[in-house]
Amino acid sequence: MTIKPLTQTKLIVYTVLFLLLFDNYTFFKNTLAVYPLSIGNIGFLLSLGVVIFALNLLLFTLLSSRYTTKPLLIIVLLVSALTNYFMNSYHVVIDADMIRNVMQTNLHESADLLTLKQVLYFLLLGVLPAILVYKAPVIYRPLKTELWAKVKTVLISLVLIALSLSLFSKHYTSFFREHKPLRYSVNPTYWIYSIGKYIDTTYHSGPTTLRAIGTDAKITDDANSSKKLVIMVVGEAARADHFSLNGYRRETNPLLKKEHVIDFGNVSSCGTSTAESVPCMFSIFDRDDYSYKKGISTENVLDVLKHTGKVALLWRDNNSDSKGVALRIPYENFKTPKHNPICENGECRDEGMLAGLDKFIEKHKEKDILIVLHQMGNHGPAYYKRYPKSFEKFTPVCTTSQVEQCTREEITNAYDNAILYTDYFLSKTIDFLKKYDRTRQTAMLYMSDHGESLGENGVYLHGMPYFMAPDAQTHIAALLWLGKKTAKALDVPKIVKDTRRHYSQDNLFHTLLGFFGVQTKVYEKKMDILHDD
Ligand SMILES: [Zn+2]
Repeated sequence: MTIKPLTQTKLIVYTVLFLLLFDNYTFFKNTLAVYPLSIGNIGFLLSLGVVIFALNLLLFTLLSSRYTTKPLLIIVLLVSALTNYFMNSYHVVIDADMIRNVMQTNLHESADLLTLKQVLYFLLLGVLPAILVYKAPVIYRPLKTELWAKVKTVLISLVLIALSLSLFSKHYTSFFREHKPLRYSVNPTYWIYSIGKYIDTTYHSGPTTLRAIGTDAKITDDANSSKKLVIMVVGEAARADHFSLNGYRRETNPLLKKEHVIDFGNVSSCGTSTAESVPCMFSIFDRDDYSYKKGISTENVLDVLKHTGKVALLWRDNNSDSKGVALRIPYENFKTPKHNPICENGECRDEGMLAGLDKFIEKHKEKDILIVLHQMGNHGPAYYKRYPKSFEKFTPVCTTSQVEQCTREEITNAYDNAILYTDYFLSKTIDFLKKYDRTRQTAMLYMSDHGESLGENGVYLHGMPYFMAPDAQTHIAALLWLGKKTAKALDVPKIVKDTRRHYSQDNLFHTLLGFFGVQTKVYEKKMDILHDD
């Protein structure tokens, strides 16, 4: 058999096409189950093929050279034939854990798994095309020509990907956010990614040691002032411009507007996702300086408060978890009816987090207290699940997680109803604190973790890379309520005058330390919203 001479670009294109057509059965089967073949979906389904093709083309082109192209394609063909078999037959996902399993399995155990079907898969989809690649007479042109061909291929791949994503942005939003498992069966992209992840987690993440900060922290007792009680509410996906306190055309803060809250209208988040923003806002690092690894390996403001020995701390969570922030303080899960008394149809309400707090306060009579309540808030895309029926003031609402099937009005209505519920929850929290107005210096600080896109320019939910994220995802709701004793102790007119200043989650660390009057060298007065000059 003779094969006509061809360039390495062509060899890569043929191989990538082969992989797309013959090794992605599971992926397309699973995808069709979610996005059935219909007029509305056909363009998106075709574009998925284009994206997978272009991604692989891009990857292999970048790694191609006279010495690497053939070995790389041969290995990919052989391994993909096997992953294809395992995915089709056992419905397994080739993730980093699976690779860890394979690495730790000896040859004897692997031989037990060998079946005739597997051998056939391997021969027809792996060995046969691998031999063709091996035998293919590739013409390697002068370096300049090859380089130019590479640049062109890379550009074409990028354009194909960008075009597909922008043409079907609604579908891709739900594909990436709602149907995560689908991408686990993309062959060979996902197993290549998994090997990278396996190597990264196995060889680069040695035991992290925790760096202590603010170990000098102390609070000097003042015999004249009463103990403090602060409730810090960490909001979820609440964008500033949907609070009527910030001028939103709809009344979404009917209860808060009756309280004397100090509303901060110009606050930006540290990240665009919970996992990024929550650890960052409690960390000593500002946004430019923060990274996930630094965050988990350095103590946060709650630790510094703990070092004083004078503040009782508690974290209650009705969201996912504290993202590592509350690892060293008391933590209570309010996502299940076990702790949370207000649950219906599997959804536990934020209000439930107030239950039994009196007991905690009673137990720590002699101490200052900081309680963090991590809300479910406006967690998308199922906004309609985030509030009891009685809060459905704006209608009609989107009642599916597949937001791309709803109009923008329906999505916004559901979202605003959930804001109404947060308004209610915050006012309940204020009511709770009022009971302690005579005995303690009380305050509630509310800050959302990030914002949310509601379909502007086809963008939904959140989590965009910060540099390209729209304002809706980074401009967050934040406000403060002060009890009578607290208001007396602070320069309230000055704080109110500055509410339109630009603040960010970077201010939280120092503001909390300042509120409790903590003396430590990690405190920066100019970052403290309540005490800066
Ligand atoms: Zn969040």
